[in-house]
Amino acid sequence: MSNTIPFNKPYVSGKELACIAEALNRGKLAGDGSFTRECHRLLEEKTGCVKALLTHSCTAALEMAALLTQAGPGDEVIMPSFTFVSTANAFVLRGAVPVFVDIRPDTLNLDERLVEEAITPKTKAIVPVHYAGVGCEMDTICDIAARHGLWVVEDAAQGLLASYKGRPLGTLGHVGALSFHETKNIIAGEGGALLINRQEDVLPSEILREKGTDRSRFFRGEVDKYTWQNVGSSYLPAEIVAAFLSAQLKDAEQINAGRMAIWEMYHARLADLEVRGLLRRPVIPAECQHNAHMYYVLLAEGMPRQRVLDGLKERGINAVFHYVPLHSAPAGQKFCRVHGDLRQTDDLSERLVRLPLWNGMTEAQVETVAGALEALL
Ligand SMILES: *Cc1c(COP(=O)(O)O)cnc(C)c1O
Repeated sequence: MSNTIPFNKPYVSGKELACIAEALNRGKLAGDGSFTRECHRLLEEKTGCVKALLTHSCTAALEMAALLTQAGPGDEVIMPSFTFVSTANAFVLRGAVPVFVDIRPDTLNLDERLVEEAITPKTKAIVPVHYAGVGCEMDTICDIAARHGLWVVEDAAQGLLASYKGRPLGTLGHVGALSFHETKNIIAGEGGALLINRQEDVLPSEILREKGTDRSRFFRGEVDKYTWQNVGSSYLPAEIVAAFLSAQLKDAEQINAGRMAIWEMYHARLADLEVRGLLRRPVIPAECQHNAHMYYVLLAEGMPRQRVLDGLKERGINAVFHYVPLHSAPAGQKFCRVHGDLRQTDDLSERLVRLPLWNGMTEAQVETVAGALEALL
């Protein structure tokens, strides 16, 4: 259908091609060239992390984080079941066991009140996921982690430039993982970054990102040859990807502002539907500044979601649901453990509908989506 409203349209600023051409001109195409260094600097400036390292995906950044924590066979990692597979997969690859804890009914984030009781002598880390770019209750989570000597790995895939109590997401735990996948706010096609918040974790992170070698020290002239130092893999993106990303990172605040205008339109337009009990809108706690990554609604109990999604599709609107909670998926049942009941996870994940949101959406398109939703409810 020609007037279909897609769920996502990858944002392109128009400056990407010139940056890619410049990367070709500079003649350095492997990773860690000048565009990668520029992205590192921009991320460090914008977030205040000690060190940013580009990766080829957020999945890769999470795998680096799992390696850093040294979580191994039998160790446990506390996280929500309501998340993307990579949050869990990164640790399962190391033989560790994700332990799922329920989510908060308001933000759909890990319920910090349930975390401490899930800790056992085998627990290595807590992995909060900042759903929709809305921060988890990080003071509580970091306090629990500090008292028990645990790592805090933030899955901030959706959280670039969002903050909790004025501090950027991804800089509140020991490390944070960002995504630049084409469905996120700031994109590189595929891409990610690990934000490192303690100086002592910088060199080990550089080593495991560069095939286990200290090539980064060699490039800085700190050693006269580089050698195999530890386990590692190849997690760095090519310069062309970094060149594309650098164009977007420079405009990151404007890109997010464009999304915010659309988010606010939805929020105002759907207020009345919430009053009428037809749906619930996202809740943003006072201490959180979000980044308009996503606009979702929770349908009223008993409302058949598939019928709503199908109805939107018939009207040319692509809305989607997610996540199928990991504890209910085949691999989740095989590799993970559930702590307590996951009542909120099961209930909320079945009522959630994500609406189209991308830079360049018009007010008329937002009205088309909201109007169609209203008619279907
Ligand atoms: C998008 C996303 C990821 C994975 O990001 P990739 O860059 O595609 O690897 C991980 N966790 C969450 C919460 C995400 O939204």
